[in-house]
Amino acid sequence: MKYSPVQNFIKGEFRDSSSSRHLDVISPIDGNKLSEVPMSSPADLNEAVEHAKLAFISWSKLPIKERVQVFFRYKYLLEKHLAELAQLCSEENGKTIDEATAEIEKCIELTEFACSLPQLIAGEILEVSRGVECRAEHVPLGVVASIVPFNFPAMVPNWTIPNAIALGNCIILKPSEKVPLCSGRLAELLKEAGLPDGVFNVVHGDGEIVQAICDHKDIQAVSFVGSTKVAKIVYKRATGNYKRCLALGGAKNHLMVLPDAIPGMTAQNVAASMSGCAGQRCMAASAMVGVGNIDHIIDKICDEAKKIVPGKNLGAVINKQSKERIEKYITEAEEQGATILVDGRNTKVEGKENGTYVGPTVIDHVTPTMSVATEEIFGPVISIMRTKTVDEALAIENANPYGNAASVFTQNGGMARYIIDKSSAGMIGVNVGVPVPREPFSFGGWNESKFGVGDITGKSSIEFWTKLKKSTVKWNPEAGVNWMS
Ligand code: NAD
Repeated sequence: MKYSPVQNFIKGEFRDSSSSRHLDVISPIDGNKLSEVPMSSPADLNEAVEHAKLAFISWSKLPIKERVQVFFRYKYLLEKHLAELAQLCSEENGKTIDEATAEIEKCIELTEFACSLPQLIAGEILEVSRGVECRAEHVPLGVVASIVPFNFPAMVPNWTIPNAIALGNCIILKPSEKVPLCSGRLAELLKEAGLPDGVFNVVHGDGEIVQAICDHKDIQAVSFVGSTKVAKIVYKRATGNYKRCLALGGAKNHLMVLPDAIPGMTAQNVAASMSGCAGQRCMAASAMVGVGNIDHIIDKICDEAKKIVPGKNLGAVINKQSKERIEKYITEAEEQGATILVDGRNTKVEGKENGTYVGPTVIDHVTPTMSVATEEIFGPVISIMRTKTVDEALAIENANPYGNAASVFTQNGGMARYIIDKSSAGMIGVNVGVPVPREPFSFGGWNESKFGVGDITGKSSIEFWTKLKKSTVKWNPEAGVNWMS
């Protein structure tokens, strides 16, 4: 075991869980055991929440300009430890070092945004009648929780940590039990940056601890990122307990390719979108709808896919079950009559025979009812469907229950605008394979890709992590009196 057993992080220190239940942490790269992670008990959560409540008393009183000083220092520490964090992220998740480096760079960008919050959070003040002022200000909620998935062990926690904390809250992070290591390092860096003890806490575990979070009377808000199945469970349970909740779910992102798309650029973007992070991105292209004759572009997509080398510029998928599930989808499509143009099944990387790799896979002549067309595969697989018209393609895209992302590849601006207007995805790209809105724009899909109001990052997150206090003040005794004053 390369690393010592994972511990919870409570009141600024690592602490053993009171539970003896634990899971192994296995590196997808080579199948080696990295560590063990505790399945914490509700008692551990209670301990974390008690300390977070105490820390909230003084943390929430600090002016935001003082609170963000921690994040200026945290940003510097993320930069300083970028290579080491990327290595850890790659080891536990299986992504390549280049992808893990990009993930930590994104954490830095998210932290920069949090540093700008004093500029964005200014409230409103107005003299509403003579001598009477109304003022609205953002006030932190208290103790909040963030439950995160395996696919971005550092970035998704940083969607919530800097903003929620800079806005005055104290937070409990529940990392994925599959990738618990990065969160411990983030905790150390936050402490080194000067964050007071108890403001940031980590409690590890699985579904049981998530349910305890949703039920805890002193947790005011729950953010969740993960599959739609669990997002629904968490949203229902947290809001059932009258908590504020924003739950981001899974995705089935469609790319539409029109015959006038630039072939080389389109093929590179499609191949990168479907295979980046081994297809385990909620923004990954999973289905492609070609309108009219786009055979020449499909040929180029296959050429690009064949250039992707597992173990070199393609990482591993998270575990054996995931590899088997992805390969089953490919086999099912083949049995149902689709054509496998590039086949990533049975991929082995020399020297890493126990790694869980799936090669890039391009499946053509998929029909809209096949499972590879309707379900989230979460692997480096693109399922290509064909239509005669843009409206038919839109009908296929919009029939899927998710609504995270969609992209169109075309040189026709008017047609691109038409598709943006008609698409039922929350994040749309034009000639962009992974249309993640960068800060200060906010991140969040529609339909079954997100439950709750607002988005999880950017300006939108201010509304989620704060409540508005409205005060009406009269200092002038001569001010008029009306029925409201
Ligand atoms: P997951 O839903 O299995 O797990 C997410 C979190 O929920 C983890 O912390 C896990 O411990 C917990 N959990 C698992 N089962 C639970 C249960 N029954 N009850 C309560 N909690 C439970 O997701 P994952 O496999 O870790 O991540 C992949 C999924 O996340 C994909 O569907 C992907 O699309 C999605 N995702 C979505 C976004 C987005 O922004 N919409 C971003 C990243 C990942």
